[in-house]
Amino acid sequence: MRGIASVPTYVVMQPNTLCNLDCSYCYLPFRQVDKRMPVEVAAAVAELVAEWARSGRFSVVWHGGEPLATGREHLAALLAPFGSGIEHHVQTNATLIDDAWCDFFIEHQVRVSVSVDGPEAYNGERITRGGRPAYDRIVRGIDTLRRRGIPFSALCVVGDPRPGVAAGLYDYFLDLGCDVLGINVEEREGVNTRANRHEAADVTAFWSELVAAWRREPRIHLREVEWSLRYVAAVLDGTADDLLPRRLDPIPTIAYDGSVVLLSPELAGFHDPRYGDFSSGNVLERPLGEILAGAAATPWIAEFLDGVQACRQSCPYFGFCGGAHAANRYFEHGRFDTTETDHCRNSKIRLLEGVLDHARDHQPTGVGG
Ligand code: SF4
Repeated sequence: MRGIASVPTYVVMQPNTLCNLDCSYCYLPFRQVDKRMPVEVAAAVAELVAEWARSGRFSVVWHGGEPLATGREHLAALLAPFGSGIEHHVQTNATLIDDAWCDFFIEHQVRVSVSVDGPEAYNGERITRGGRPAYDRIVRGIDTLRRRGIPFSALCVVGDPRPGVAAGLYDYFLDLGCDVLGINVEEREGVNTRANRHEAADVTAFWSELVAAWRREPRIHLREVEWSLRYVAAVLDGTADDLLPRRLDPIPTIAYDGSVVLLSPELAGFHDPRYGDFSSGNVLERPLGEILAGAAATPWIAEFLDGVQACRQSCPYFGFCGGAHAANRYFEHGRFDTTETDHCRNSKIRLLEGVLDHARDHQPTGVGG
């Protein structure tokens, strides 16, 4: 993996900055402010997306703020320039989902992913702007999706990964009825400055237990575990070098005002004396294709590519991880050319170790001497 691809596999659109919740681990800096994306920004992005979609499947991910806080009318206006043949996804806290939103998802063929952290006891960080628990409202929204027969994915943040947590979490999501599940160990990024260092053995045991739970009933696509197993299988086949894409996916994030942040959506809205606002341009001033073509000239990106190179040379997990995310380096170390972070320890290194521990514990009798 070297350099940055000129064509992404998906684009992240921030239709607004506002969120109706105020979760304590949230990284978003302007979630109390209502700044909406003008339709001109969506139109400028849609032009190039239509071209990319001609050569294969292409996704647009609407991820705010809380995208549903944009309102149906305005979100429909933002979707309109994209035309047909584009896969739209929305990442939502689910609290605003009602029958009218379900009609919207069906009419616009929007795929829904809900953010929920497992059973009620694990959702203590998910609170309203008045400081009250949001869990009941989240579940009410998800129940509406289920009643309407709308399939959905789920994204779960785990603040305290340790033994005894994963099996119950997985059972919860089996009952919830999601078809895809992503597990994120809480990260220190954006305005969330809480430490994310955990005991190595606890995090490894968490992942190992999750693999065991999934293998008992693999009804849900479990993002992290399936990717790990693919990697392990590729190592055994001798094809691991072909698994990661040749170039980094630029993952353009289009902020509400049209500015483009590449590689790490979490950097949007931040400013640093050395790196400026992290943006590589604005789609209202320059075509997105040109912005992508000049990506490596953005100073922090050049520094990040040095960091990825340092990972390649020093880290035995590089083939699995690919250097992880730029934002974690910045928010943990204040720069991009470092290597290990607590994020990559929790979510890459210990994930793979957990999968391997599970495999060692479940060897057929007689294997391994
Ligand atoms: S696990 Fe960490 S140190 Fe290793 S390649 Fe990934 S980001 Fe770099």
